[in-house]
Amino acid sequence: MPSYTPPLRDMQFVMHELLHVVDDLTAIPKHADIDVDTINAVLEEGGKFAAEVAFPLNQSGDAEGCKLDPVTHEVTTPTGFKEAYKKYVEGGWAALACEPEYGGQGLPHILNQCFYEMLNSANQSWAMYPGLTHGAYAALHAHGTEAQKQTYLHKMTSGEWLGTMCLTEAHCGTDLGLMRSKAEPQADGTYKISGEKIFISAGENDMASNIIHLVLARLPDAPVGIKGVSLFIVPKFLVNQDGSVGARNGIYCGGLEHKMGIRGNATAQLVLDNAVGTLVGQPNKGMQAMFVMMNAARLGVGNQSLGQTEVAYQNALAYAKDRIQMRSLTGIKAKDKPADPIIVHPDVRKMLLTAKAYAEGGRALLCYSAMLLEKEHSHPDEKIRKDAGEMLAMLTPIVKAFITDNGHISTNACLQVFGGHGYIKEWGMEQYARDNRINMIYEGTNTIQSLDLLGRKILGNNGATLRKFGKLIGQLVAEEGVNEKMAEFITPIAILGDQMTKFTTEIGFKGFQNADEVGAAAVDYLRVTGHLVFGYLWARMAQVALREIAAGNADPFYLAKVQTARFYFAKLFPETATLMRTARAGSKVLMDTDAALA
Ligand SMILES: Cc1cc2nc3c(=O)[nH]c(=O)nc-3n(C[C@H](O)[C@H](O)[C@H](O)COP(=O)(O)OP(=O)(O)OC[C@H]3O[C@@H](n4cnc5c(N)ncnc54)[C@H](O)[C@@H]3O)c2cc1C
Repeated sequence: MPSYTPPLRDMQFVMHELLHVVDDLTAIPKHADIDVDTINAVLEEGGKFAAEVAFPLNQSGDAEGCKLDPVTHEVTTPTGFKEAYKKYVEGGWAALACEPEYGGQGLPHILNQCFYEMLNSANQSWAMYPGLTHGAYAALHAHGTEAQKQTYLHKMTSGEWLGTMCLTEAHCGTDLGLMRSKAEPQADGTYKISGEKIFISAGENDMASNIIHLVLARLPDAPVGIKGVSLFIVPKFLVNQDGSVGARNGIYCGGLEHKMGIRGNATAQLVLDNAVGTLVGQPNKGMQAMFVMMNAARLGVGNQSLGQTEVAYQNALAYAKDRIQMRSLTGIKAKDKPADPIIVHPDVRKMLLTAKAYAEGGRALLCYSAMLLEKEHSHPDEKIRKDAGEMLAMLTPIVKAFITDNGHISTNACLQVFGGHGYIKEWGMEQYARDNRINMIYEGTNTIQSLDLLGRKILGNNGATLRKFGKLIGQLVAEEGVNEKMAEFITPIAILGDQMTKFTTEIGFKGFQNADEVGAAAVDYLRVTGHLVFGYLWARMAQVALREIAAGNADPFYLAKVQTARFYFAKLFPETATLMRTARAGSKVLMDTDAALA
């Protein structure tokens, strides 16, 4: 049986000692009253909910899965899921970061994010039911009419209704321009929507009294391709004038996918049969509105893998201290035992530290991104809003792809720590590797994230945002360049920061002559950039920890931080050299391979 302890100490370190979020938040009028104690108290309670309510349902939900009644088209979620959701709603968790005008508590986004990290560690499948609703809320908040907001946002805030995102069809996943679902305008201003969606997470379930599907479809006169896609609200039950739940709408679950992981989440095939919908935003501008949800979801998916990495690490660490096999290469360590605990072996430590470094680096990046999101939406200074938005746009594909790839590496490393016991179900480790696997695929595969980063976010603005990030590194180098204790953390990022301009220009130049060069380099490029960002954050974390140690703080937390930073820079960061080399190997070795791939 796995276990889970909310990593509150590390969350507090990132929020209060690394990022000083209270200073930034109190500069935003709506958070003027927030303080450290409130933040810590909310997260402590959130951690209890995750560990005590959601976590105990993780393995049973995986084993039981969801069930579809083919007659009623209703889906039953695993035993206990519905009751846990009731507790979540009663606890006010759905409303945590929603706007007070719709009944929300208006707390900072970073709190919701840390709460969701814990839910993801506890039970990713369960967390996806309420989690998607936050993205749907954000899209409606940004692009809905006042009437739509009044009709839907109150109930989504309270948690009475859940939300989904319905993009994918059997023939169209990455390429949404191929979409076929149709929306026929009606005389009353609504639309009748027909088509079939597949792979819709939480697409049908028994947890809430209504499900608000955000559906992409085409109007009859829509231009071909992605520019002809519009966004519609299609509720499972129509909503009466007084806001109550009305007649069943024509959107049904036609089947549930049987899948590798996240088995407690209902991945639904949805049939739309003249379902009544209302348009969100402008006709044919559906992607613009949906991108609000997709960007939120991309950060959310990175957060899913952070959760998986953390819980896998905690369990692998406990196992490695307990499991005895062989003797240490440097002599007996546990004299009272017939063998030493496996944590004495260097490679076991490497696996553990890989997961720890990726979990703590991921937490720092996600919290940093959450603060950018808060500033982008709510800071009174327009320039700060704009700069934050640009930086977040660049970091979003890194959060999504780098953290989920790291989650894959980490959950597999932690499984490996258990040897054969990691491969069997009892210990729960194989579930973490399976559950994490989807995070690299949905919300735009990690390849698509890489193309977005290199093509749009970096080359698309001639590297301007990357240079701004480079300035942050430059500031840190200026602050700590002469501090010998920081050299092992500062030198690698200073060198990589310098190399990035030439590296990026080179790929951009080659890509200008042959677009396949961008496609061939993008995945390696994202990983290099991911390390640049992690490297910066790890150097700053080491800086904070070293200062505490120098000031006489004996809390072992700080020494642990320095040791993990040391490991990260010595063992993980150096892969950037190989990645730059493989990115530079170009497209010819991939594209001149027709004989090899015949
Ligand atoms: C469990 C689960 C839950 C999901 N939840 C949702 C949901 O809630 N809502 C929703 O709408 N969808 C959902 N999806 C769908 C998911 O977002 C898609 O599966 C994903 O976007 C990829 O689309 P696809 O599966 O059609 O793969 P394809 O688009 O067919 O891609 C196949 C491969 O080709 C690669 N590829 C495609 N185009 C390019 C390119 N231009 N350059 C390089 N490589 C390329 C891809 O990276 C991938 O490796 C879910 C899927 C699963 C499995």
